[in-house]
Amino acid sequence: MLNIPHEVKKQFEIIDTIIYTNAKKVQRAFGEARISQSDFSYVTGYGYGDTGREKTEKVFASFFGAEDALVRPQIVSGTHAITLGLFAILRPGDELLVFGNPYKTFEEVIGKRGKNQGSLKEWGISYKILPFTTNLNELEIIFQNNISSKTKLLFLQKSRGYELRPSLLNEEIKLIIKIAKKYNPNLIVFVDNCYGEMVETTEPIEMGADLVAGSLIKNLGAGIAPTGGYLAGKRELIEQAAYRLTAPGLGKEVGPSLGIARNILQGFYFAPKVVGEAHKIAVLLAYFLELAGIEVLPGPFAKRGDIVQTLIFHEKDKMLNFVQSVQKISPIDNFVTIEPSLLPGYDAPVVMASGSFVSGSSIDLSADGPFVPPYIVYYQGGIALEYGIMLVESLSDKFSINYF
Ligand SMILES: *Cc1c(COP(=O)(O)O)cnc(C)c1O
Repeated sequence: MLNIPHEVKKQFEIIDTIIYTNAKKVQRAFGEARISQSDFSYVTGYGYGDTGREKTEKVFASFFGAEDALVRPQIVSGTHAITLGLFAILRPGDELLVFGNPYKTFEEVIGKRGKNQGSLKEWGISYKILPFTTNLNELEIIFQNNISSKTKLLFLQKSRGYELRPSLLNEEIKLIIKIAKKYNPNLIVFVDNCYGEMVETTEPIEMGADLVAGSLIKNLGAGIAPTGGYLAGKRELIEQAAYRLTAPGLGKEVGPSLGIARNILQGFYFAPKVVGEAHKIAVLLAYFLELAGIEVLPGPFAKRGDIVQTLIFHEKDKMLNFVQSVQKISPIDNFVTIEPSLLPGYDAPVVMASGSFVSGSSIDLSADGPFVPPYIVYYQGGIALEYGIMLVESLSDKFSINYF
């Protein structure tokens, strides 16, 4: 088996303490919610009195340090959760401030790209994209110029997404919020938490964010939750989002959990460990691929705010080799040979490895990127460190990786 160097093991020990801290929070949240077997019944129809759903939302709220949460299979993805939050809060005439370049799927939501059908822009909600920076002086200037008493919402993305920028650490989110709220104390700060959950020992709500959103087929579902998305935050914001998800007046009281409360909760219970494993695999890949001369972002020993590992191959064969290797290690569709292809919504051919039990789950081994120079791959997930070790081992010939 691959010999893991001492300095990498040291990094793993730091991650182990993060896992422990998050597991402790999860354990407490479960205790407070008083969950029992009877909460896992298969509730159908309107979903009145669905205790599985209600207790799941209690667990999430408690973990995040939030007043309330909305955790539903009826929220189909991260993009849906974010969209739900924005349409719940913003009204015609409002301006949305987006901190840094928006995530690909988010562009159509705000009306930056696509048919502009049903977008925020079509509803008369404009947006402004602010430059990404964590420099305090620059932040002061940017917020001073863009935030007034009339500004309603600032949207932050914690993860690097598909950008060559670092993830936001929660301490940085805290500073950003502090400066932004100086110019308007009533400003609502909404954080896209996708890929960022449980990577640190804190969460954005504890840093002063008003609302967070994410997907259950990423970090918090641990590969077990079959579908779903979540929002957590201030009670009135969650109520507004629930009114938007179902109907005004109905809100959170309806929406059956359809027998998956057990899977969602089990995923959440596993999540601290599984996110920790993904975190370790990212470190391992960064370490060994850097040795092999590949450009890696972040470096193996950097503090991380998300589980995404950016790899810049510069050569198309190397990129394809890597993504194909990820697919070969995957439990599902391991026999498939990945080729570049054009996908709807993308302007360049993409290569994508994804062989997970839950379709599209990217807390499992997954990697993708546009098949154009400089041949960048965004890698994340892996469920257990051992599968990441196998991946590095399988790369040894292709990348002449030095195992010592
Ligand atoms: C994945 C992701 C999204 C969108 O989530 P989907 O579930 O793919 O719709 C949004 N923002 C970031 C940073 C993400 O990683």
